[in-house]
Amino acid sequence: PQPTLAVVGRPNVGKSTLVNRIIGRREAVVQDVPGVTRDRIAYDALWNGRKFTVVDTGGWEPDATGLQAAVAAQAELAMEAADVILLVVDATVGATTTEEAVAKILRRSKRPVLLVANKVDDERLMAETASLWSLGLGEPWPVSGLHGRGSGDLLDEILRAL
Ligand code: GDP
Ligand code: MG
Repeated sequence: PQPTLAVVGRPNVGKSTLVNRIIGRREAVVQDVPGVTRDRIAYDALWNGRKFTVVDTGGWEPDATGLQAAVAAQAELAMEAADVILLVVDATVGATTTEEAVAKILRRSKRPVLLVANKVDDERLMAETASLWSLGLGEPWPVSGLHGRGSGDLLDEILRAL
């Protein structure tokens, strides 16, 4: 079986957009309104000749109540099932209490966790990513899932971690 990457994070941070960027296709459903991504959809990805599975964990999105508990549950599942976990944060919003709670869980992970600062569409937004160090998950990787900025570097890092 090929290694698995799980993508976790709050609704609307751009998980599905980033998944599409990683797999190089538009199969994960991207929506402006949270609540439509189907539960834990797995996709095949290929980068530098290596195959891996990407899981877009968006199944909790319809449940707006108890969001924090739901994201925490996704993180727990990801830690059990995935070889590498991506925690995606919207850099234009910064870390919320939900991300602080989920980061606390992920810091216990035996598997590597990569912190992604998404929606860094241009250089100007790079400064916003520095505050994410406070999550205690190491260096934030700045990317724009929408435009592709930084995604090659992130994919190289994913392969190193897988
Ligand atoms: P998810 O709920 O975490 O899966 O988020 P989606 O991938 O569905 O994206 C939510 C919204 O954020 C959509 O309107 C996307 O177009 C937008 N979005 C995603 N990635 C980026 C990005 O890198 N830059 C900008 N500006 N918008 C983004
Ligand atoms: Mg989604």
